[in-house]
Amino acid sequence: MSTASNLPMPNPRQVNGFLVTVSLPPTLSASHLCRGDIFTLPANPNQHLTVETIAPHPEIGSRLTITTNDMPISFTLHIDEPVQPVRMPRTMRVTCRLCGAATDVDLDLVTHGEPKIWICSRH
Ligand SMILES: [Zn+2]
Repeated sequence: MSTASNLPMPNPRQVNGFLVTVSLPPTLSASHLCRGDIFTLPANPNQHLTVETIAPHPEIGSRLTITTNDMPISFTLHIDEPVQPVRMPRTMRVTCRLCGAATDVDLDLVTHGEPKIWICSRH
């Protein structure tokens, strides 16, 4: 089994510095989802769901109530339920390893991976 897809990779899209990211695993727990994310459920991988709202269930703390743009009714998922992320746009604050300066970068965590190391363009 190859682990090559999980190795840290430079992200050439950043113009104001150098960012090393680590690929997301193919599935994440539902608690990682935010409004605007696109995901599929493992049982139905062809149906892309776009999160409209996501909130803790009012009575069952271990579940999330999710509404999507794609289904007329809301549904609940356990916070640890695996989902397959398709798009997870985020603005992440990264801190330069060399000078400590903070910068906000816009990423799609699915396409670009999670930020691990940031070196700003002053170096
Ligand atoms: Zn720096």
